[in-house]
Formats: sequence, structure tokens, C-alpha cells
Amino acid sequence: MSITQKLHQITESLPPEVVLVAVSKTKSESEIAEAYAAGQRVFGENKVQELVRKWENLPKDIQWHMIGHLQRNKVKYIAGFVSLIHGVDSLRLLKEIDKRGAQQGRVIPCLLQVHIARETTKFGFDEAELTETIAMVDQGQLPHVQLRGLMGMATFTDDAAQIRAEFHYLKSLYDTFHSGREAFDTLSMGMSGDYHIAIEQGSTMVRLGSSIFGSRNMT
Ligand SMILES: *Cc1c(COP(=O)(O)O)cnc(C)c1O
Repeated sequence: MSITQKLHQITESLPPEVVLVAVSKTKSESEIAEAYAAGQRVFGENKVQELVRKWENLPKDIQWHMIGHLQRNKVKYIAGFVSLIHGVDSLRLLKEIDKRGAQQGRVIPCLLQVHIARETTKFGFDEAELTETIAMVDQGQLPHVQLRGLMGMATFTDDAAQIRAEFHYLKSLYDTFHSGREAFDTLSMGMSGDYHIAIEQGSTMVRLGSSIFGSRNMT
């Protein structure tokens, strides 16, 4: 199947309220252009340099999401154009995004990444840190970031029950913070291997790469 066909198939299968982020990391600009021609406008990348290059070269109505681990010293390169930063995993990073947002005269939409997986290699806030950080933003301490919701990655496993439990936990945290915060309306969970479970558990945004573009070359 072509990129266009896969994209149409996935788009039609998703509930209408679920936003599809087409994860185009390692994929060429012509592959992205094909998805764009098929109507896709939201793309996700996980490397700053690659994101900047693609933003420069591709149509300006694309909404670029930064989905990977973001280093503080690289925020400045994307602060002027990025539509959503999914992987905000520390208060220090959020403060840097706020600072760069101020310099750009922008309020930068962000998701806080929550550590839900068993793997210790994955990044993110725990529940106590989330509470503290969201309270700071509520108090207006970081006026150039907008908290739009939460993001999480489940353990890389074949155990569907484990994945389901992790997404269920993330959804319960999301519900807690979503309540009473109008703009806090996004729950980014689900990748090619687990997005059916994520949607069943209440995801509002899925990040799909290989199921649209085919498998990536290992880097
Ligand atoms: C690569 C990546 C994805 C997409 O992975 P697929 O398995 O190809 O769908 C989603 N989220 C993050 C954070 C990623 O790095």
C-alpha cells in the first residue's frame, strides 16, 4: 500500500475526536509531501535539526510537533514555529521553553510527559511533580507556555494487559488535571504498535510513524 492509502485507511479507522500525528522522523521530504498531498497537516519529529530543516523546506501550513526527548540547549531553534512539544519531561525544560517563548513573543503549547512505563530509560514526570508543575503554571509563573495535556509511552512489550494498565493510569491522571482546565484537553498516547489499546483507554492524540510510512531504517 502507498503512503496515501495507508493514511486514508488509518484516518478512516480513527474516532473523529482523535488527532493523528504523522511521525515522519527519518522520512524524506518527498514522503512527507505525499502525506501532505493526501491531506495530512500534523507531523511529528524527534530530532531538532531534522525538524528545523523540514520546517524550512516544506509547506508553511504544516503543524510541526516535537515528540522526542528535547534538550534544553536546543529549544531556541524550534521556539519560533513549533505547534506542540510533547516530551516536556522536567520543570527545567519547561522553564527554558517559557524563556524562549517570551523571546519569540509566543505562548508555546506543551504536553507534560509522564513516566508510565516499567523501563527506567523512559523519561517523564511522576504524579507529585506533575501536581507541582501544573500548579506553578496555574499561578501564572510561566506565562509563555500553555499546558495542553499529557503524553506518555507504554512499556515496549507484547503484554497487552500491561500496556492497557499503563494507559489506564495515564488517562486517570489526565482526567484529574483536565477537570476545570479548559485548554488542558489533549492526551497523547499510542504509537503504531499500541494505538488501538490507547484509543480504547481514552487517547485524544496518536503518534503513528511506521504504520503510515513503513518501517524506519535503523539509525
Ligand atoms: C518514533 C516515535 C513514535 C512513532 O513510532 P511508530 O512505532 O513508528 O508508530 C511515536 N512517539 C514517539 C515519541 C516516537 O519517538
